[in-house]
Amino acid sequence: MTDPEPHRTTLSTTRTRRIVVPVVAATRTAPPRDTDAPLLDPPSTRRNRGRLLVTGLVAAVLVLGSATAVTTAVTAGALAGAPASGDAALAAPPQAAAAPAQAIPAPTMIGPDAPADACAAAPVATALAAGDDAAVIAAVGGVESFRTLVTAGTTACLSLGDPGRIWTVVNKLRPYTPTDYAPAALRLPDPVRSLAGEQLRADAATALAALGQAAVAEGAGTIAMESGYRSYATQKRNFGAGGPEVEASVARPGYSEHQSGLAADVVPCTSRGCGTMDDLAASPQGAWVAANAWRFGWIVRYEPGRTPTTGYIPEAWHLRYIGTDLAAAYHDEGWHTLEEFFGLPAAPTY
Ligand SMILES: [Zn+2]
Repeated sequence: MTDPEPHRTTLSTTRTRRIVVPVVAATRTAPPRDTDAPLLDPPSTRRNRGRLLVTGLVAAVLVLGSATAVTTAVTAGALAGAPASGDAALAAPPQAAAAPAQAIPAPTMIGPDAPADACAAAPVATALAAGDDAAVIAAVGGVESFRTLVTAGTTACLSLGDPGRIWTVVNKLRPYTPTDYAPAALRLPDPVRSLAGEQLRADAATALAALGQAAVAEGAGTIAMESGYRSYATQKRNFGAGGPEVEASVARPGYSEHQSGLAADVVPCTSRGCGTMDDLAASPQGAWVAANAWRFGWIVRYEPGRTPTTGYIPEAWHLRYIGTDLAAAYHDEGWHTLEEFFGLPAAPTY
């Protein structure tokens, strides 16, 4: 951990800070063809820029004298104020696009001013439709910008309640909708062994495989997966009659992170066999996982001392996949619960 324990003030700072557009976005928006950036400006700025662009493009068209260019220019100009402008404007003739862009300062900042636009922006919509969650985060400007939008809670397409996204948060206050949600693509985390044959969502399986291989390569030893995806029906069977003791470590049916396919319980293994989940914390594998899981997109979801927030006793073995971008921020900023990371209320009980 590089920072002291985070708290609400840290998040508040994050939320109000304006953020430099990442390299990818800056490249795409570099003058003279900076067409995505207007979506990230305040609405009034976008409108002004749209008008400027229309004016400039029409002027350029008059010089060019082409009916096709008129159509292109007006279309591109109209789109300049809309989130989907990027690709359309990029396709415009270089002559038409260059003229107005020179009159408009290249934007270098984004912030929380335009949450309503995020879902409609073409790169965001495309990434969402493709199920490419990492690309969605990149398309809204990176992790900091993503968290700003998510914690504001006004960006429907970035809902923390969507169990199909790597950023979903499931806890005792946040059950699945629908209750019997099941992920689409599941597979084994090979070459990490799945002791009971359980699977993970494909992206999480790939990430657990990478984690397991790195643990071996870096001398920590071998891990195996004790438990992965757990269906709603299985949870109902396992939960039995419930009760306070059970509920300290076992989620009620429809409330388990395992139902997302994004959670894995891991155990340490040696040449003599594999230990139990309880053996992980004191093992070399457990120490390595606690320090390095984030590099592969995983976090230890239920850390010691966080029961009042998570509602669960410490579980060194229970890893949750959130993708490498979010996990790196979670690690680098010193967060210990997903609830605090996303500004959600504590969820100690149902
Ligand atoms: Zn677990």
